[in-house]
Amino acid sequence: MTDTFLAGRTALITGSTSGIGLAIAEALGRHGAKVGINGLGTPEQIDAAIQQCKDAGAPDVRYFDANLVDPKAIDAMLAEAAQWSPIDVLVNSAGIQRTAPIEGQRDNWDAVIAINLSAAFHCMSGLLPDMRERGFGRVINIASVHGLVASVEKAPYVASKFGIVGLSKVAALEYASAGNRDSGGVTVNCICPGWVETPLIESQIQARADQHGGDRDAGIADLLSEKQPSRRMTLPEEIAELALWLCRREAHNLNGAAIPVDGGWTSQ
Ligand code: NAD
Repeated sequence: MTDTFLAGRTALITGSTSGIGLAIAEALGRHGAKVGINGLGTPEQIDAAIQQCKDAGAPDVRYFDANLVDPKAIDAMLAEAAQWSPIDVLVNSAGIQRTAPIEGQRDNWDAVIAINLSAAFHCMSGLLPDMRERGFGRVINIASVHGLVASVEKAPYVASKFGIVGLSKVAALEYASAGNRDSGGVTVNCICPGWVETPLIESQIQARADQHGGDRDAGIADLLSEKQPSRRMTLPEEIAELALWLCRREAHNLNGAAIPVDGGWTSQ
């Protein structure tokens, strides 16, 4: 039987119409949480994401239609969410990536920083005070190995991910004394994935596949061999299992961490 340890809790997961965010929304719903999903996509994609969470067993699923480049839209989302339910778990998973040398990144910088970093700040600053009041809260920021080490041609992405790791540590410190062991406390952590096969990295997979005569598997193997020693992609649902554990009461003292899930990438 599924352990519904999140029954009575509510989670808001940004960027959950796809990839890692959707896998986390589904997992939190399966374990009893009401889930608020957010992200871009066609009406069909959004409906499919809602249905996936309902099918997993989420007792209630709401879609919040906010484009996170716009702080006013974030404020509106948080106000709407507050009318729905207090938020116990915030997962900042929305993200974009643009690859080019620094001199080619001028047009990408503002959007990457806005979505990958500033949106997380606005959501955290809006929701953390209420988590402190209630003595329980979990913020899980989906950073990246690129919050721990750099790669070429990813200047705004790497800057945003180092930024969110630093932001998370500050928030962890400011809220560390909230609540107690019984209430579960308030924690703020980052998960730092290496390669995870989602639409986010599709253009990079395609570029490598093209170098191997269109062979997708060879392209993926090439990408992995460069940085990820396990030579295996992580699955979104594997990231979701870690996010789930961070939501447990027993995780009250795991705080301010940036946890790599990278097949050894950052151990090199
Ligand atoms: P994805 O493209 O599948 O999902 C990204 C999500 O963000 C989608 O739901 C998308 O609609 C949403 N989004 C994008 N722009 C938005 C906007 N302006 N407003 C609202 N939502 C917006 O990619 P993913 O791999 O699931 O990425 C999730 C997170 O994981 C990102 O922060 C990414 O940087 C991080 N990450 C991914 C990988 C990987 O290899 N896939 C590795 C490390 C970190």
